[in-house]
Amino acid sequence: MSNKFIGIGASAGYAIGKVFRLEDPDLTVEKQNISDVDDEIKLFNQSLEQSKKELEIIKEKTKDQLGDEHAEIFSAHILVLSDPELVDTIRKKVSDEKINVAYALKEVSDQFVIMFESMENEYMKERAADIRDVSKRVLSHILGKPIVSIAEINEEVIIIAEDLTPSDTAQLDKKFVQGFVTDIGGRTSHSAIMSRSMEIPAVVGTKKITDHAKNGEIIVVDGNDGTVILNPTEEELTEYKQKQNQFNEQKKEWAKLVNDKTKTNDGIQVELAANIGTPNDLDGVKNNGAEAIGLYRTEFLYMGRDELPTEEEQFEAYKKVVEEMEGKPVVIRTLDIGGDKELPYLDLPKEMNPFLGFRAIRLCLEKDDMFRTQLRALLRASAYGNLKIMFPMIATLEEFREAKKFLEEERQSLLNSGVEVRNDIEIGIMVEIPSTAVMAGQFAKEVDFFSIGTNDLIQYTMAADRMNERVSYLYQPYNPAILNLVKMVIDASHKEGKWTGMCGEMAGDTVAIPLLLGLGLDEFSMSATSILPARSQIASIKKGDAEKLVTKALQLNTSDEVKELVEEQFL
Ligand code: PEP
Ligand code: MG
Repeated sequence: MSNKFIGIGASAGYAIGKVFRLEDPDLTVEKQNISDVDDEIKLFNQSLEQSKKELEIIKEKTKDQLGDEHAEIFSAHILVLSDPELVDTIRKKVSDEKINVAYALKEVSDQFVIMFESMENEYMKERAADIRDVSKRVLSHILGKPIVSIAEINEEVIIIAEDLTPSDTAQLDKKFVQGFVTDIGGRTSHSAIMSRSMEIPAVVGTKKITDHAKNGEIIVVDGNDGTVILNPTEEELTEYKQKQNQFNEQKKEWAKLVNDKTKTNDGIQVELAANIGTPNDLDGVKNNGAEAIGLYRTEFLYMGRDELPTEEEQFEAYKKVVEEMEGKPVVIRTLDIGGDKELPYLDLPKEMNPFLGFRAIRLCLEKDDMFRTQLRALLRASAYGNLKIMFPMIATLEEFREAKKFLEEERQSLLNSGVEVRNDIEIGIMVEIPSTAVMAGQFAKEVDFFSIGTNDLIQYTMAADRMNERVSYLYQPYNPAILNLVKMVIDASHKEGKWTGMCGEMAGDTVAIPLLLGLGLDEFSMSATSILPARSQIASIKKGDAEKLVTKALQLNTSDEVKELVEEQFL
């Protein structure tokens, strides 16, 4: 009999395939006395070789998917495996003490990790993480419990994991990974967002899929409504194959709209923009007919590596994006690290509430060297296209003013050195914190535009962690509380002759779109794959009808009531 699970549909589409469990094996070791030192050393040498081979594969894959800089971390790992200081000390310990190599490896690598961690020099400190990672890999071979890496997958599978980190997700190869299902996470966790831009069907937050799914079992993933079926019956398989075909046909219809403008049924134009994480997402942006980039999440440039990206590297990435967009607007957001996006090499202390902590603009204003490097790269890239700059997580006007002051100082210093910088760059902010939405009237006098980040705005307004599936029922984009905040922001911007976009996931949500049209949103920025369905939907709506709809919706009491109202009239 089949086994059904309900999670949160994170990325549309259907996948039917074999389960591939992604999990860390148990690598605990005990000290043992051994009689044959040669056998033990041989096992060690073989494990080193296997680890090197794996790391070469991962390095190549990472290079293909994410570029050279990200692959460098694996070159460093391969070097560690050849370091005589480490490997000879392990061999010596085995032969001197006649103990198992697994234990010797653990002891020696732990000592090295402690030694590197205690060093003042940042570069040396980072080596500790490399040694920890690499020894784990070698140990897994010694114990015969290999660590599976996403980059090594070379057959068609559906990944089952407790969670996927954003850097795991960045390594997914669409050729092989047909879908994924996780225990934890919500629609706006970053792995979910990335699965949408990669067009990989995904369901997150099933709470318990890892308790049931075994490698090789057949599984069905319905990323549209969040259903997952383990060991489907023949009837279920037929039903989902049919749904998969229908979905593919529907996609072909949408594809015909790729070069169209986005207009309501009565001819009012709005802008449909794409959210991207790296320049690699540009193909999706073009294939899906985006009219702009409404959010470039630059933090992915900083992730999956072991040091900060240089000004030059950043300049090249930003320049590539603005150039390829050929004059269309590109809103680049400054570094938004923190929450579920970590940068281990910054060595920040662990926090009780990372989503409420030292993140995004708060961190950038304090670590201003890092911030200024990014600002210079952005300013230089502005000469190559229609670049706009946006600051994340702004809570107060002072924060905005200070960020803008850094920007102006860097602009002046570049101009003084004769570097070309556009003089009409629009500077905007993300509205993600309720205080900023409430103060939109004051902000609108100083910023050039707003982009509403509903993923965070909803989590902060409802006080519900966006990563926690237990409270995911409080992710309520249609709740009149949220609609009112969105209205305040849009109205305030229009009063000052400014524009408002939305780059949270709500902007591409079928139920939200008629409401947002009615509220007068100017720019909708979403995962590239949602653009064509949104364009098709908007073409069927009259602006006047959407305005009447939202007036009624704002009078209602609950999110469900609003949803029902929209569904009755528009879906
Ligand atoms: C948001 O908070 O809505 C947003 C777009 O930013 P991120 O998802 O990267 O936090
Ligand atoms: Mg955010």
